[in-house]
Amino acid sequence: MVRLSLEELYKEVILDHYRTPRNKGRLDPHDVMLERNNPLCGDELELYLRFKGDDIEGITFDGKGCSISLASASMMTERVEGLGVKDATALAESIKRMMAGEEEGDPDLIGDLVSLKGVVKYPVRIKCALLGWNTLLEALEEGSGRKPE
Ligand code: ZN
Repeated sequence: MVRLSLEELYKEVILDHYRTPRNKGRLDPHDVMLERNNPLCGDELELYLRFKGDDIEGITFDGKGCSISLASASMMTERVEGLGVKDATALAESIKRMMAGEEEGDPDLIGDLVSLKGVVKYPVRIKCALLGWNTLLEALEEGSGRKPE
């Protein structure tokens, strides 16, 4: 039986999402589309969201970049789909604080997103990991200001 160290396990999670991204591609129709990039690394991200009432009915991403930025975006879409705007915002804020080292992160809330912290040890890479989450926060703000159906 092969035992993986925690860090190896985290790397596996990241690589899995990088190789097999979830929710990748354009979402049509969508309510919000944002294009953001991380010039330090060259990561480019497009984020698509569709809302149903106050819930995120659909979320996809597209773009190119390093494994951390793409894996993080993939994990994010998988995690926040179906969440209410409020819960998704709270989760994104929590991830940002975790990556900044301000909090450990509640395992029940963070889940396997903790693997991001496990592999990201350099400030430049933290920007890669947070690109999706920062874009999500912007998109949620834009989305919550839209007219009800
Ligand atoms: Zn990057």
